[in-house]
Amino acid sequence: MNDNKNISPNLSPLIKGGKDAAGVRLVVLGAGESGAGAAYLAQQQGYDVFVSDFGLIAEKYKKRLSGWNISFEEGQHTETEILKAIEVIKSPGIPDKAPIIKKIKENNIPVISEIEFAGRFTNAKMICITGSNGKTTTTSLTYHILKNAGLNVGLAGNIGKSFAYQVATQQFDYYVLEISSFMLDDMYNFKANIAVLLNITPDHLDRYDYKLENYVASKFRITQNQTSADYFIYCADDPETIKGMAESKFKAQLLPFSIQQTIERGAYLEEETIIINSTLEHFTMSIKELALQGKHNIYNSMASGIMAKILEIRNPIVRESMANFQNIEHRLEFVGKISGISFINDSKATNVNSTWYALESMSSEVVLILGGVDKGNDYSMLKELVRQKVKSIVCLGKDNKRIHDAFENDVDIIVNTQSVFEAAQIAYHLAEKGDTVLLSPACASFDLFKNYEDRGRQFKLAVKEL
Ligand code: ADP
Repeated sequence: MNDNKNISPNLSPLIKGGKDAAGVRLVVLGAGESGAGAAYLAQQQGYDVFVSDFGLIAEKYKKRLSGWNISFEEGQHTETEILKAIEVIKSPGIPDKAPIIKKIKENNIPVISEIEFAGRFTNAKMICITGSNGKTTTTSLTYHILKNAGLNVGLAGNIGKSFAYQVATQQFDYYVLEISSFMLDDMYNFKANIAVLLNITPDHLDRYDYKLENYVASKFRITQNQTSADYFIYCADDPETIKGMAESKFKAQLLPFSIQQTIERGAYLEEETIIINSTLEHFTMSIKELALQGKHNIYNSMASGIMAKILEIRNPIVRESMANFQNIEHRLEFVGKISGISFINDSKATNVNSTWYALESMSSEVVLILGGVDKGNDYSMLKELVRQKVKSIVCLGKDNKRIHDAFENDVDIIVNTQSVFEAAQIAYHLAEKGDTVLLSPACASFDLFKNYEDRGRQFKLAVKEL
């Protein structure tokens, strides 16, 4: 298990807000979307709220905090103010190693996530999705189905508006929450009515003492506190998930999904048809009709479909929603076709596993734009697909040596570029009619871009200028 997880906050009546909260200090660390929202909810519940951010706070959040009369500081952490707290709500971006977190823990002050905090103030049913890859896609697709079915549902977590802010201002019956492992690390009493674990591949290991088992344990926290009335949906084809499952006990009803084997209760693939048999009314749909194409999206669609069926949404609505869903930006997003060459923006693919799935879903020859900040990538898992589908690689990063080393024997042409405009130009020249130019970098973007969104947007601009 992860270190520093020894302080599990007990739910005292005090922490439930109300008049007992008056004068009780609650500190929010990090003033982004989740921090500002948590501060708003805490203030609404009557706490004495103080927000502290070691960096600079974005103008829009400063305005909001001032407008709500919440005191905050930026560019520093004033310990005397922070250590007065009965509880600290921490932004998922702040690592446990940060000196202020160590100090807070030494003082036995519980540290929790925004989700843990806000979960105390709503009775909505929680549908929670985690995994190394596919979270945003599956969360958005599930929300789309539930919305189409007319449910009173909110979307939150790692996506969109702060969960806490929505809890403070809305009355939803359901929430679909995208949950990262960093959020799970600071969740204790929160319960997911429906929990989904899509897959586990090594990622963010720097935050887990470079131990995969710590990261796996973190992901399985999505099932904590579940009872037999709850559901746990997972991928039966994912080796790390299966290994992790063997080591834990589950009270929830287990609903696996697979494209490799028949599943007794859950979802599976029969030839090209998805079958969901988690409830009495079975659901079937051809994978050809799915809006989201590619093997990884069969998994994501199965997970969403199981959730929809648990909530007893009628088959025609599920089918229609899975067929008309608009894919989200930067995830295998079709940008356009120029001279018969398709351009696809998969800038969100920041690890090798995502790029594998992107390549796997390609049905033409590919000019692959790859590279950026390499977080210790093992490119060997891509080699087979690269040999089969990739005719040339355009490197987009400051240091491309590892890509050259990995693929020099697999493709004829590997070119270095330093800007996305140059990369798009060169890829366009290397491609022929019928080919696809795929930006799926397998790397983070911080060497040349602000973030993956910036990289994806610049790529789309570059394609428009060709
Ligand atoms: P996350 O929110 O977990 O980062 P996204 O839904 O944003 O995941 O997808 C990121 C990338 O991961 C996609 O562009 C795709 O290439 C890949 N991906 C999506 N779903 C899966 C999956 N189920 N398994 C493996 N890779 C996936």
